[in-house]
Amino acid sequence: MSQRGMPSTAHQYDRPRGQCVHCHMYQGNVEAMSHNCTPEREAIEDAKVLKSRVLAKEANDHGE
Ligand SMILES: [Zn+2]
Repeated sequence: MSQRGMPSTAHQYDRPRGQCVHCHMYQGNVEAMSHNCTPEREAIEDAKVLKSRVLAKEANDHGE
């Protein structure tokens, strides 16, 4: 899921066309409309973000 007001990071753009290889939305449209990618891609990206947050928290916990 994209953050409010931010384009989703789940898109992967085809160069040089700048078109998402998953949902076929152009980058300009994604940024203009904060368009989300496919549900599959959003789920993968959510999992990655969640994992990185957990790892960052663990690193923080050990650092203190
Ligand atoms: Zn996409």
